[in-house]
Amino acid sequence: MARAGKTGKYRKPEEREFLVAQVVGRKRISPNFVRVTVGGPALSGFRPMGYDQWFRLFLPTERGLRLPKRTNGLWVAEYFLMSKDSRPIGRNYTVRAHREQGTYGEGPEIDVDFVLHEDAKGELGPAAAWARDAAAGDEIGIFDEGITFLPPRDAGWRLLVGDETALPAIAGIIGSADDGVRTEAYIEIPHVDDAQPVEPRDGTTVHWVTRGEGAPYGEAALTALRTASLPDGPGYAWAAGGQRLASGVRRYLVGERGFDKDAVTFTGYWR
Ligand SMILES: Cc1cc2nc3c(=O)[nH]c(=O)nc-3n(C[C@H](O)[C@H](O)[C@H](O)COP(=O)(O)OP(=O)(O)OC[C@H]3O[C@@H](n4cnc5c(N)ncnc54)[C@H](O)[C@@H]3O)c2cc1C
Repeated sequence: MARAGKTGKYRKPEEREFLVAQVVGRKRISPNFVRVTVGGPALSGFRPMGYDQWFRLFLPTERGLRLPKRTNGLWVAEYFLMSKDSRPIGRNYTVRAHREQGTYGEGPEIDVDFVLHEDAKGELGPAAAWARDAAAGDEIGIFDEGITFLPPRDAGWRLLVGDETALPAIAGIIGSADDGVRTEAYIEIPHVDDAQPVEPRDGTTVHWVTRGEGAPYGEAALTALRTASLPDGPGYAWAAGGQRLASGVRRYLVGERGFDKDAVTFTGYWR
């Protein structure tokens, strides 16, 4: 994951551990999204932070689900020292929703919205394929990473830009930020039916931008941004999605719209 910018520092959870959760539900919610819901007793150890809270997702290999034991910075070394056939597949995902009381059963649940994206050969990536086929009882590992949406106090308005991989984060930010600060959100989606209901907030407008068939990723959102009428005064921008989109947004805002570099948090979610 590429990132930069002073405001881009993470707010990490105070304590964290590797948690094992079980799939309790799976739903195809739109043409390009599958929502997987996980639960299980270990989730009582998960501390929801709202906003764009993200986590490391670990998927089992044929030998089952093995997770690092260390929870300080050394977990990465431990992970890469695992033999290839027992090292879990690790990817990054967003908490789309957290409920203390589950809808599928008792106890806490987390919803994760997976984009069913394809690679250059037309095949689903491992995490996307796992989500498409996830069945009740399947296990995943979760390692909380906290949030990156950290607006400075003096920012009078906010701009959120992302592609479909950032839809869960942008919806989470809007749902968590109930302070009435004016917010303009631009979300590029592959299909018009991939738009999701987002909690209505005073002063928040969501602009759904549909990417044309075969069009380059991120271009539609950047085009919409270039013609957007944005509020005056210092704002804070948060951008995520394909690396090209995230860094393109930052370059445009700093170069053409007078944003201070420190007022833009941008994160490449994939490349
Ligand atoms: C902090 C953070 C939060 C994220 N939250 C979410 C989330 O909630 N939902 C979500 O769907 N994704 C999310 N992502 C993006 C997700 O981690 C990547 O898309 C990831 O690469 C998917 O893993 P995979 O195993 O399916 O494909 P990979 O094996 O990683 O990739 C396979 C191929 O597909 C390409 N690729 C990867 N992602 C995409 C894509 N979206 N569109 C087109 N091509 C792609 C790669 O370049 C590669 O060629 C998040 C990323 C970060 C860093």
